[in-house]
Formats: sequence, C-alpha cells, structure tokens
Amino acid sequence: MSGQSVVIQLNDIRRVYKVGTEQIHALDGVSLEIYENEYVAVMGHSGSGKSTLMNLLGCLDRASGGIYELDGEDTTQMSNSQLAKVRNEKIGFVFQSFELLPRFSALKNVELPLIYSRQTIWNRKELAGKALERVGLGERMTHRPNQLSGGEKQRVAVARALINNPSILLADEPTGNLDSKTSEEILALFRRLHEEGQTIIMVTHEADVSCHAKRIIRMRDGKVISDVPTEQDAVWEHRNTGAGR
Ligand code: ADP
Ligand code: MG
Repeated sequence: MSGQSVVIQLNDIRRVYKVGTEQIHALDGVSLEIYENEYVAVMGHSGSGKSTLMNLLGCLDRASGGIYELDGEDTTQMSNSQLAKVRNEKIGFVFQSFELLPRFSALKNVELPLIYSRQTIWNRKELAGKALERVGLGERMTHRPNQLSGGEKQRVAVARALINNPSILLADEPTGNLDSKTSEEILALFRRLHEEGQTIIMVTHEADVSCHAKRIIRMRDGKVISDVPTEQDAVWEHRNTGAGR
C-alpha cells in the first residue's frame, strides 16, 4: 500500500446515541486508515456498529467524538452545509434497499446528485447516460424502478453513486436483497470498479461476499476487533469461531 494516499483517517471515533436515559455506544473508539483504491469489507453481527460507521464515513451523520479526515480535510470541524457539499462531491452511497425514486426513470435517478452541480441539463443527461452504460444498463435508461429487476435496480443505484466520481464508494449490504446469482453480478461490477481504481467500503455479514474484498474489518460492540487482509481473515475466523461452525 506504500505510495498510495490516505483517503480516510479515523482517530478515536465515538458515536453515542441517547435513548431516554440510556446511552448506546454505537461506535466506541474506532481508529483506522483507508487508502486510495482499497476494497474493504466491514463485517460484524447485527448491532455491532457497521451502519453507524458507514453513515459517519458518508457524512450522513456526525461523530460524538474523535476526528474524521476525508481526503486530508477534517470533517468534524465542518458546518452542515460544508458537510453536505463534501457528501455530494466525494461520497457515493449504495444501500441494501436501492433507494431509487419510483416515479423517475433510471436516467433521472442517476442524474439526481448532479442537480447541485453547475452542469447544464444536457451535460447532466449525457453524464447519467454514460454512467448507466458503465454499469451495463445503456438499454434501460427510460425504465422506471418497477420495470427493472433487483440486480438492475442496484446497478442504477451504483451508477447514481458514481456519477460525481466519488473518492469513496460506500455500500451497506449491497447484495442483501438479491439472490445469489444477482449478487455475483453486483460483486463482479464492484470488482471491475476496484480494478479501475475506485476505493470501495462494503458492509456485509456474508463470508461469500466479504471474500471479494481485499481487506476485512470486523466489528463488535462498536469496536474494531480485527483488521487484516482477506487471506488472513479466514485464519482469524477459524481461530475465533472454531472450525465446522
Ligand atoms: P449494525 O449496522 O452493525 O447492525 P448499527 O450501527 O445499526 O449496527 O447499530 C449499532 C448500535 O447502535 C445498536 O445497538 C443499535 O441499536 C444502536 N442504534 C443505531 N442507530 C440508532 C439510533 N438512531 N438511535 C438509537 N440507537 C441506535
Ligand atoms: Mg446495519
């Protein structure tokens, strides 16, 4: 990884949710670095803090403590509008539930993040069309979400996530709503994006999915409990959960 620049630097990140009188430490001192063009899977049981981490990385939420630098800029000091700008320009988000607008065509859905840019409407359409071609959906531009299969919907969501050339692609259980064959298609797309230089961070609880990444971060109770290259994670899992589980 030498020579690659740091995209994400987290230093002792905490996120406390207050529910009534109770405090939930959803992230409890997370420190890590992610370099350009890494392909990282985040794993852990339900409630371990994976989505909280992704929301923070995606600037959808703020830490209760600690420092988060994105492309060398300290996001913790930013105003809400600065943070929204960073989110729009530097983050691509893909969700388990696709989150497409049902009344809009694939093309219009992909165009949405460009609404805040200074592009003309024709440039926006052209960029959105190219993004759809990049994910193999050049023939589906005028289809609405309910006229697309699950895998196609997720590819539209990936095209939308990539439209602003984000520094990081964040995917929270991107194959969680897909059958195994379609999951493989989406993972093949991620692999290609990785090969093209995209930095990817993906949450999953499935070993079949995480093995596509190059590095696996495991979380428990808001803490990172393991962070190793994918080949070594199998050893970790064997040692910590026992064989034949
Ligand atoms: P995961 O994605 O790994 O399942 P989450 O990040 O969603 O875990 O949740 C981590 C912990 O924080 C859990 O205990 C969860 O109940 C709690 N939590 C998540 N979001 C909220 C919220 N908005 N308000 C209160 N507690 C929350
Ligand atoms: Mg989650």
